[in-house]
Amino acid sequence: MARVAKLSRIPAMSAVAISIQFLALCIALIFSTPNAAAEKCTYSTWAWSPEEGRAVDHAEIIKPRSELAAEERHPDLPCTICAEDHRIIALSNGAEVTVCKAVADDLEVALNAALRAEFPINEIVGYRVGRTKGVLDESGRRTQYSHHSFGLAIDINSSVNGLYENCAQFSPRCRLLRGGEWRPGAPGAITPETPVYGAITAMGWRWGGELPGRQKDFMHFSPMGD
Ligand SMILES: [Zn+2]
Repeated sequence: MARVAKLSRIPAMSAVAISIQFLALCIALIFSTPNAAAEKCTYSTWAWSPEEGRAVDHAEIIKPRSELAAEERHPDLPCTICAEDHRIIALSNGAEVTVCKAVADDLEVALNAALRAEFPINEIVGYRVGRTKGVLDESGRRTQYSHHSFGLAIDINSSVNGLYENCAQFSPRCRLLRGGEWRPGAPGAITPETPVYGAITAMGWRWGGELPGRQKDFMHFSPMGD
């Protein structure tokens, strides 16, 4: 009798085991399907050549996410240079900017607050992959990805907020590298008194106009300002 009872338990246990396996498979399918698209990484890239004054080495990249190199991932935040990790923010004035999903909600609130305070945002650029930092390689090209590459920097109203070098202190001796002349007081020009400065620095980000050193990037905000 004992043996029969023992044997009769086996099919019942197998049914439970199969049910658990089936349930696990269903859960795996539910969670794996939306991620399948995110397993791919696509981006357009280039390198800046200071000597030529232009972007070179343009390339369209499509690769499995498992093959991402360390330089393609931000060291601290869950942001990569893959287009799949970014989203478009639609501002209340109709302007759009693409940034890393991890910071998109905070930036959307900050930028819309600046607009409500009547700071005009006419031009805005966020996510843009390119090697614009670091030492030059043997061909004279920059070797490191910028913070824009990770969707962790924005440029606002570049036509009145230029990027300067030779500019430890702002003076007529500063040399304009990109964008238009910085004109404090002009509509859309950024200074610490403007609502856009207040809203974005309140997120913990810093302004490129207050960078220590010889560059001043008046259009630029990022977590460290660089
Ligand atoms: Zn910038």
